[in-house]
Amino acid sequence: MKNKIIQDALINNYAIPQFNINNLEWIKTILSECNNLNSPVILGVSTSAAKYMCGYKNVVNMVNNIKEYLNIKIPTIIHLDHATTYEECVSAIDAGFDSVMIDASSSLLTDNIKLTNQVCNYAHKHNVLVEAEIGHISEDININCTSVEDANNFYKQTDIDLLAAAVGTAHGCYNVKPHIQYDLITKIKESTNLPLVLHGGSGLSDECLKKCIKNGINKINFNTELQLAWSKELKSYLKENKDVYDPRKIITAGCNSMQEVIRHYIKILGSFDRYYETDNN
Ligand SMILES: [Zn+2]
Repeated sequence: MKNKIIQDALINNYAIPQFNINNLEWIKTILSECNNLNSPVILGVSTSAAKYMCGYKNVVNMVNNIKEYLNIKIPTIIHLDHATTYEECVSAIDAGFDSVMIDASSSLLTDNIKLTNQVCNYAHKHNVLVEAEIGHISEDININCTSVEDANNFYKQTDIDLLAAAVGTAHGCYNVKPHIQYDLITKIKESTNLPLVLHGGSGLSDECLKKCIKNGINKINFNTELQLAWSKELKSYLKENKDVYDPRKIITAGCNSMQEVIRHYIKILGSFDRYYETDNN
């Protein structure tokens, strides 16, 4: 089923959004908005965010309980983002995560392949998806972009479900205008036919995102954009409401802006109105 969500995006040339979560309010906001638009969603959880939320098990329970409480019907994937060790992946899988990313991109390709396969073995036994990264996702395209040859070798020698390739995007805010290697996306897609993942979706123009999808991207990660929207709205709310002390009012004050960002990206990615009945939601 989890793979069906990704395969549907692959076959129908659209991208599934990954929005990273930090707490209860983010889970509520993301799930509600995606449900309103009938868009499948990947909830990204970094290892540090998992610690903040008191561990993988609590993340899974929180998401599942919120889904039940809010009657969320869309397909969802709880995904471990940028794990660097086998042990982290195993802990998340054992806690009930649907998908893990093993990021051994800073190692030699042979070591990356070895560790990725180790994770694939364990994950696939538990019906869990694996995303891996090659090249290094950074604005410096001269030294870090993934080569088509490496992507093809990696594809042939591993059993991954999704591939994150370095094609000119970066995490966080862009200091200079990114130079996305669109041709490289096409070539990697042609040589692997894997669903490709674009990290660092925040800050890219709508046109750029659409072009990436057209060239073969099927999952786009957004983190910074939601954080910026939330904190900006929250700051202005506090400025205008100096006497507020209700924690629920304060922490949810940025959630409307997050909703707008989510809605915007779902429309750009083409993932809306994709809801279908699932037996493993
Ligand atoms: Zn990333």
